[in-house]
Amino acid sequence: MNDRLQSWLGDQIQVLKDQHLYKKPRILETPAGGRVRMDGREVVNMSSNNYLGLANHPKVRAAAQEALEKWGVGAGAVRWIGGTMAVHQELEERLASFKHVEAVLVFTSGFTANSGCIPAVLTDKDVVISDELNHASIIDGVRLSPASYKKSDGWVYGHKDMNQLEACLKKANAAGFEKKMIITDGVFSMDGDIAPLPDIVALAEKHDAFVMVDDAHASGVLGKNGAGTTSHFGLYGRVDIQLGTLSKALGVVGGYIAGSGLLKEWLINRGRPYLFSTAHPPMVAAALIAALDVMENDPGPMERLWSNTKKWKAMLADAGFDTMGSETPITPVYFGDERAAQDAERMLFDEGVYALAIVFPTVGRGKARIRTMPSAAHTDQDLADALQAFVRVRDKLSVNA
Ligand SMILES: *Cc1c(COP(=O)(O)O)cnc(C)c1O
Repeated sequence: MNDRLQSWLGDQIQVLKDQHLYKKPRILETPAGGRVRMDGREVVNMSSNNYLGLANHPKVRAAAQEALEKWGVGAGAVRWIGGTMAVHQELEERLASFKHVEAVLVFTSGFTANSGCIPAVLTDKDVVISDELNHASIIDGVRLSPASYKKSDGWVYGHKDMNQLEACLKKANAAGFEKKMIITDGVFSMDGDIAPLPDIVALAEKHDAFVMVDDAHASGVLGKNGAGTTSHFGLYGRVDIQLGTLSKALGVVGGYIAGSGLLKEWLINRGRPYLFSTAHPPMVAAALIAALDVMENDPGPMERLWSNTKKWKAMLADAGFDTMGSETPITPVYFGDERAAQDAERMLFDEGVYALAIVFPTVGRGKARIRTMPSAAHTDQDLADALQAFVRVRDKLSVNA
């Protein structure tokens, strides 16, 4: 062990602890679901992305088991060197028709879909214009590209601020960039609000830019059967690049880029995580096909997701909590003070609710919140128990304040 490295690591970790930014995952001892056991305690899980309850759905499990018997556990290679099995191809065809696009290319995660696609479609003659609240994987993908993108150069617009976006586009046209890409989350992962995609698309068309939307939190949540924000807003054919995740509502793991056939061909040749990282196990692809079957044929999970979402927001509002105008299942419960939110997270766990505090720097200073995510997997009892825990914790915190 190198002493310099070890002492540097120790120092850095201590800094994180001092700043209350240190993370230590709790251990799940049961399958993903509305009520789980974690670190030896039964809790209502209000922090899972398993929106539709598909992560442990009997049909999805059965498909994975069947594929395991038929195909074995691994693909054995990267996709383009003999690692593409018929089941991978079938998944991409199913996703393309689900999304109403010419073609889909699957990556091993949403994160790698961003870091593979964004730099592949940009050169040093291009510019990327970003919403200031874009997800970390978009930011990393943008940083890997040779295009202009920096906030300090004026290429990041205020959250959903269409006037600022248009000013960026005009400035980019004046500067003579070759291609201009606007990139945004479809549903913002911390506040649960929806990007004004119709306005973004109209501005892109007016100023000759193209649009990439990251629909990780819209997949399975918004649009027809959960097809995402492009479907939700009726913008078929007008969003150039859509990213979806297979890890959240679809319940398994993976990410994909949906767009034109040419885009897919290009990414097969130039998307580095596609080129240099091994294909999904075949049971992953098979489970995802089964998850799509459920989404396309059984409206129950999406209906339960949305009825639970409305119920949960109304319960919180009735009890006097501020849910910060969220429009989707992602429901922040506002605490403001960082310490209060972090204390609340610990106290909620003791009261039987797992929900994480989101604090600076993930969100602005003094805007700390507990982020809750109701799902199709929650029962009325789960939500009632969770609300009671929130009320008890708030009462305890105000006594201590
Ligand atoms: C979760 C998330 C991703 C990453 O998706 P994974 O499939 O989990 O890698 C990308 N973008 C956004 C906006 C996300 O919320």
